[in-house]
Amino acid sequence: MEAVSNGEKVIRRLYEITKNYDLGFETQIEQILKMGLERFNLDIAILSKIDNNRYVIKHCVVPADVELVSGVELDLDTTYCHITCQANSPIALEYVGKHDQYASHPAYQSFGLESYIGMPIKLNGKLYGTLNFSSPTPYDRKFAAVDIDAIQLMASWIEVEIIRRNQEKRLIDLNLALEKKAYEDSLTLIPNRRAVFKHINADLNRVSREKSNAALAIIDIDLFKNINDTYGHKKGDEVLIKVAESIDNDIRDYDFVARFGGEEFLLWLPNCDMSIATMVCDRIRHNIEALSLCETPITISIGITCFGADMIQKKQAKERVDELILQADKALYKAKDAGRNCIKFYDIA
Ligand code: GH3
Ligand code: MG
Ligand code: MG
Repeated sequence: MEAVSNGEKVIRRLYEITKNYDLGFETQIEQILKMGLERFNLDIAILSKIDNNRYVIKHCVVPADVELVSGVELDLDTTYCHITCQANSPIALEYVGKHDQYASHPAYQSFGLESYIGMPIKLNGKLYGTLNFSSPTPYDRKFAAVDIDAIQLMASWIEVEIIRRNQEKRLIDLNLALEKKAYEDSLTLIPNRRAVFKHINADLNRVSREKSNAALAIIDIDLFKNINDTYGHKKGDEVLIKVAESIDNDIRDYDFVARFGGEEFLLWLPNCDMSIATMVCDRIRHNIEALSLCETPITISIGITCFGADMIQKKQAKERVDELILQADKALYKAKDAGRNCIKFYDIA
């Protein structure tokens, strides 16, 4: 009868801890370790991770005079967990000094721990580490079936929770990688058209707040179709990659370049007036011409619109970005009309 009520108490307490996800994993583990110490009437509680013969303390609850903290590493074969891992099931030792087999174990020799109860932690059948409780004091009663049940329940929850957390982390990493891919041009690896609105809108708000200025430019490769027709599509792709690289190398950290369309790139230059925009775009033009990827140099036409914070009207965010792109596009047409290989500005008047 006593054992049953003890067992119920263990389960209830464990459930209270494990259902309370608000505590966070670290605190939940700490509470489980404390609960085990109370249950088994022992002094040292450890959740370990085992890597070959390395026994690493991941979490522990110990008396003030015991110098164990998380991160401490021991040789596995100097711990009782060595026995636990080999036994593949819970190990409960009550008075190691009097034990025929274990009194000579290196763990007893090194640490003099008289009482120990431990259980392997396995993730999908593979050993992760151990959950164990011990004390330098001999245990004054026999570990009962309820104790074995208790440590098995604690270990099971820890196993499931570590697997769940590993999966959650993999999902988060995967989502981050997917999000990055969604905003990246797969050929040139610079941001794509989708990233343009996201980036510029956020930066427009900053420009407006800081009463600064900025320039938006559209860069279009001249007669790019001829490159494809003359050298093939593969060469065309190579040119796009090199042009993107060249532009990216020519801009400052806080500038932004994206592949806006087939052979068009969008450039966003914050804190920038007409003369700086001209300087940056001239440098880009010059460096692309110097690439020598084809027999004749590659030239580009650029349309730019410049504006100050006072010119940003109170329109919807998307409309503001669309309008700036339209202005830069009009300037680009002017550059094409003027014979290509040049820079033109959008004329506000
Ligand atoms: P303009 O000087 O007037 O801009 O002439 P253009 O030939 O550069 O412009 P046009 O719009 O006539 O042609 C652009 C070409 O870019 C057509 C299209 O097949 C090619 N293109 C678009 N995307 C890609 C791509 O990813 N790879 C390659 N190789 N070509 C592409
Ligand atoms: Mg074009
Ligand atoms: Mg073109």
